[in-house]
Amino acid sequence: MRIGRAAGLTDTGRRRRQNEDAFVCDPPLFAIADGMGGAQAGELASRLAAAAIEEAASAVSDEEDVVGVVRAANALIFERSLHDPAVAGMGTTATVALVDERTELLTLAHVGDSRAYRYRAGGLEQLTTDHSLVAELVRSGRLTEAEAAVHPHRSVITRALGTEAEVEVDTRTVEVASGDLVVLCSDGLSAMVRDDEIARLIGASDRDPHAAAEALVHAANEHGGDDNVTVVVFELIEGEPAERDRHAAEATDGHPDPADPDDVTRESVLDDVNRHGAGKGSRWPALLLVLALLAIAAFAVWWSLVR
Ligand code: CA
Repeated sequence: MRIGRAAGLTDTGRRRRQNEDAFVCDPPLFAIADGMGGAQAGELASRLAAAAIEEAASAVSDEEDVVGVVRAANALIFERSLHDPAVAGMGTTATVALVDERTELLTLAHVGDSRAYRYRAGGLEQLTTDHSLVAELVRSGRLTEAEAAVHPHRSVITRALGTEAEVEVDTRTVEVASGDLVVLCSDGLSAMVRDDEIARLIGASDRDPHAAAEALVHAANEHGGDDNVTVVVFELIEGEPAERDRHAAEATDGHPDPADPDDVTRESVLDDVNRHGAGKGSRWPALLLVLALLAIAAFAVWWSLVR
C-alpha cells in the first residue's frame, strides 16, 4: 500500500473576513489547524502550528514523534503569546495524520474540533473525538446530536494548542488499506455539511482527492459558509511504499513556496485567491505597474534634461 494523490484546499467561507485555518499536505504527514483569538491572533496561531508540523515532517515516524511535534507547536504558540500582548490568549486546533505505508497504519494526534475521517466502501467513519463543549454534552447524554448541530455555542472548544504551557494530546492508530480515502477538515466543513453528505460527495468525486476537496468546500459554502473551511484529502492505493526524498524547507502551511511547482498547497492557495479575486498575491501586478510608470516618468525627465 502507498499514498496516492493528495489535495489540500482552504477557503475563507462566506461570512468571515480572514482565514484563520492552515493545513499541511506533505505525504506521509498531513495536518489541519484552525486558529482562534480574533484579529491576527488566530491566523498566527494556526500558521505557527502548521509551520512547526511542516518543519518536523521529515523527522516524524511514529506516534511518539507525532505527539512530540504537537507538543512542540503548543510550546511555540504559548511562548509567543506570552511575549506579544497583541496575540495573548491565541490558540488553534491541530489534527495531525501520519501514514506508515509499510505497516498500513494511520496515526492521529489531535487537539480541538478539527476532524479526521476514513472513507471506505462508500461509508465515512469519524476517527477523532471533538474536544468541544457540545460534543462533551452529547457524550454525557445532556444533548442530542441534532441539538448539538444547531447549538449556539457549538464552536466552543474545550482544548486548544497554545493557550497553556502543557497540552493533553489525543492519539489513535487505525489500520488503513488501499482503496481508503482519508479526510481531515476544520469545523467549517463538519458544522456545515453532514457526514452522510460528505460521504456522498466523496463517492460522487470518483475518488479523486482534488475533486473531492473542491466539492466539500463548495458544499460548505452552499450551506452558508459560516466559517473558514479547510479540507485535506488523500487516497491510499496498491503499490510499493514510496521512497521519499523529503526536503525540509518545503512550505505547505498555506504560505506557498513559489520555487516549487509541485507544491500542492500552492495550487490550492492560488485556486482560492483566483476564486475570490483577492489575496496577498493580487497586489503585485498593481505595484509593478506603478513601478513601471515611475521608471517611464524618470526616463522622460532624464531625456528632457540631456537632450
Ligand atoms: Ca473554525
